[in-house]
Amino acid sequence: MISPSANDVLAKQNYLIPITKRPELCFLRGEGHYLFDQDDKAYLDWVQGWAVNTLGHSPQVMQQALIKQSAQLINPSPAFFNQPMLELAELLCENSKFDQVFFTNSGAEANEGAIKLARKWGQKNKSGAFKIITFQHSFHGRTLATMSATGKEAFAPLFEPKVSGFTKVPYNDLAATEAAIDGQTVAIMLELIQGEAGVIPATAEFVAGLDALCKQHNLLLIVDEVQTGIGRTGSLFAYQQYQAAPHIMTLGKGLGGGVPIAAMVIDKAVSCFDYGDQGGTYNGNPLMCAVSAAVLQQVLAEGFLAQVNRVSDYFCRQLAVLAKEFGLGTTRGKGLLLAINTGQLSAPQIVELARDAGLLLNAPREDSLRFMPALTLTEQEVDQGMALLAGVLTTLTAAEQ
Ligand SMILES: *Cc1c(COP(=O)(O)O)cnc(C)c1O
Repeated sequence: MISPSANDVLAKQNYLIPITKRPELCFLRGEGHYLFDQDDKAYLDWVQGWAVNTLGHSPQVMQQALIKQSAQLINPSPAFFNQPMLELAELLCENSKFDQVFFTNSGAEANEGAIKLARKWGQKNKSGAFKIITFQHSFHGRTLATMSATGKEAFAPLFEPKVSGFTKVPYNDLAATEAAIDGQTVAIMLELIQGEAGVIPATAEFVAGLDALCKQHNLLLIVDEVQTGIGRTGSLFAYQQYQAAPHIMTLGKGLGGGVPIAAMVIDKAVSCFDYGDQGGTYNGNPLMCAVSAAVLQQVLAEGFLAQVNRVSDYFCRQLAVLAKEFGLGTTRGKGLLLAINTGQLSAPQIVELARDAGLLLNAPREDSLRFMPALTLTEQEVDQGMALLAGVLTTLTAAEQ
């Protein structure tokens, strides 16, 4: 294969609406844990589509599901049932506490659906209660309602007026949450690990307390598992590691393993949409559902999650070694959604140097690196990544002296 030169590829970037700063790279192919750029340089990828590529880049099972399903049926219209839609819904319900699913194309849309369902439920069951308590530094998406729900400070002044009805309280602060509940409150919505905020886990007491508050005040508990779901934290869903019985869970990212599909998964008891309240042209389309089912089957396979937990332990141990050597902070997170505090060192600068060295990382904050490798990670790639990271840290700390 003759690859186009970097200049040929990147000359076309002016045709795109600029929405984020991208490095002068164009990735041409991916294989498992690696991405290859226009010069065929390999990068060990610990971003993986932003915690999306559950099984790494272009795994056989996804290729096969795409080929098989695309030959069979791509789009019968959302007005009809199709087989992959039914099978994926069954898989999600039979492997969780929930009963029913609505499929969407993105995590934001799944959350949008959860917000709508909670408001509808409030109309029907709680005298029109509509307020949803969300948390500071949370991230729920980029539609207008989900940006309004999001607790990111940078979003606050944008696109005013926002969708009203979201009360933001400090995360992991049960007393503040309780104090925010009033007669118009209908739900509490949270990420069990705040991903975009820098991988901040909810404490066990906090989540158990929220669950109790919801029972006491007849509120819905909504868990946004768009980033934490599908094995990312070492259990199929993160809520399974907490004492809580959420009524609504949203999924995205890892659910498709790289293709656009997301879902709202709910208890039958709160199912209250009337026909016409919710829909979407591509909801439950067989192509994405078939791929997602293939990904989910892998994650559900005997031993898969145990291996995620083993490699997570190994990752944390190796990271602790680097932390000690280079004066980094403690590791946080669960499973393969991990982060470390970089202390005095600039995390974005580490990301840039690591990329030059052939390792893709993310810095959700100035002082934090986030790791979201494929769940198929092995100790071998951990060793390779840590060696690359150690090289970068050596350069940086030497430059500082
Ligand atoms: C990524 C993310 C979303 C938004 O998902 P999109 O597919 O980008 O719309 C929502 N919530 C959380 C927790 C996320 O990490």
